[in-house]
Amino acid sequence: MNSDSCIFCKIVNKEIPSEIVHEDDELLAFRDISPQAPVHLLIIPKQHIKSTEEINDSNCHIAGKIISLASSLGRKLKLNSYRLVFNTNESAGQTVFHLHCHLLAGRQMNWPPG
Ligand code: AMP
Ligand code: ZN
Repeated sequence: MNSDSCIFCKIVNKEIPSEIVHEDDELLAFRDISPQAPVHLLIIPKQHIKSTEEINDSNCHIAGKIISLASSLGRKLKLNSYRLVFNTNESAGQTVFHLHCHLLAGRQMNWPPG
């Protein structure tokens, strides 16, 4: 899938609506449409990167920014526990091929995950 048909690029470009909780030059954070926990946010780069498979030495600052934003949202929302998840490729559960970090909180999380 290229960026023209990517649903998260459409959210970045405001072509489809979303409940945005943070926006800056490089990142967007919005509520997941099908929440799996009382708090379920998605943090994405505005740039179309398919998955963690495309993270390398030249663009890895974005991964740090995503985690830093997750930490800042955790503080802002006063979350004392949360889980960050990057699904990479189908068997791991990736359905949208635009890099995203799930921020899940507000319920007991199980380990190991299913
Ligand atoms: P993943 O399965 O890791 O690729 O996660 C993709 C996530 O995107 C799922 O949790 C979906 O519920 C969520 N999602 C899909 N479409 C939208 C949308 N239009 N707005 C918000 N979240 C979405
Ligand atoms: Zn995209």
